[in-house]
Amino acid sequence: MTLLVKGGRVINPAVQQDEICDILIENGKIKEMGTNLNAPGAEVFNAAGLVVAPGFIDMHVHLRQPGQSAKETIGTGTRAAAAGGICRVATMPNTKPVIDKAIIVEGMKYKAEHEGVVKVDIVGAISKELKGQELAAMGAMANAGVVAFSDDGRYVEDCDFMRKAMEYASMFHKVIIDHCEEQSLVAGGTMHEGTVSNELGLKGRPAVAEDIAVARDILLAEATNTPVHIAHISTKNAVDMVRRAKAKGLHVTAEATPQHMILTDEALREYDARFKVNPPLRSDDHRQAVVDGLIDGTIDAIVTDHAPHEWEEKDEEFNLAPSGFVGLETSVGAVLTYLYHTGMVDLTTLIRAYTAAPAKILGIDAGVLAPGREADLTIIDLDKEWAVDSTTFYSKGKSTPFDDMIFKGKAAATIVDGIVVMKDGEVLR
Ligand SMILES: [Zn+2]
Repeated sequence: MTLLVKGGRVINPAVQQDEICDILIENGKIKEMGTNLNAPGAEVFNAAGLVVAPGFIDMHVHLRQPGQSAKETIGTGTRAAAAGGICRVATMPNTKPVIDKAIIVEGMKYKAEHEGVVKVDIVGAISKELKGQELAAMGAMANAGVVAFSDDGRYVEDCDFMRKAMEYASMFHKVIIDHCEEQSLVAGGTMHEGTVSNELGLKGRPAVAEDIAVARDILLAEATNTPVHIAHISTKNAVDMVRRAKAKGLHVTAEATPQHMILTDEALREYDARFKVNPPLRSDDHRQAVVDGLIDGTIDAIVTDHAPHEWEEKDEEFNLAPSGFVGLETSVGAVLTYLYHTGMVDLTTLIRAYTAAPAKILGIDAGVLAPGREADLTIIDLDKEWAVDSTTFYSKGKSTPFDDMIFKGKAAATIVDGIVVMKDGEVLR
């Protein structure tokens, strides 16, 4: 099968490319890139007026399999990804059972190959059952092909245990993805601790809980000379510590979510559980610091932390509702609307954070457009205006803080291994 993507503005940050360029795809791989390419008999995708980027990667999602298929499945989650312009996701191990041994990884890989509409990478647990006590079967899971290790959703409390986990992961050339919230400080908290939580009379989760966790794990990364990746960073001090760690030459990377770069704790005033998430939406000074971190390269990757729940659970009263919400179908629109069209962050920086940066952190062969590489492409209409309507989501999760917002900018097509899996919002597989 031959596909010619014609006339698009190719933004390919890994090789500093930003120019009008055609891309010829044959048998799932990029065959040629250049101007005025012709291929008799090829299917032509007219990308004139659109941005053509390497396939977007979201390295932090929860597909909820195995075990929680009422919340999401590989089928529905990867369709949601395709709809949002995401070609590849890394799914977290806080499932039932926990992804803590090779046989579960192998089962997930089989399912992903057969039911996935986009590519799925698997993150293995650091500890058995995420209990933070015994190491999971990290070696066997590395052999089975996990891309990273994480106890995401929980902070690894025991310092010595975390030190061993970091050393062990690096033996297999895998990174630890670190959920940073010191437990004693956040216990019982439901939102960011600050003026708004005081006014609402809700127990907060203070920024210093994240700061302490990030500080410890940067120190451990330095002491063990191993890499660590800070998940969903959300505080001023945490961003600053990662900045200084990078300046020192440590192997520290970080990711941020659209919600932490766009929304603040002011959204919680109506006690609406759609805005409840861990780490919490914080005050505007923290939000601005996270955006600044993305602009200056302190923050490498943009992720959604896509966390679908059943509607009945999320519809509970605020204190009882679970944390987290979906993001795959709103990520690109939210970021283009609030970070690009406002002039805050340039397009190359944003696209790098969805492509070359996460590929490098995970050590996967993706995130760049070049002859011979897998033909994963995200095609974007920068000026498309649309209203977020969660009832139309492909995801089983319908709870999103962005519902009913008007966005400017949307993925126009998602191409995986040379096959158009989404066009104009419609998933074709
Ligand atoms: Zn997390």
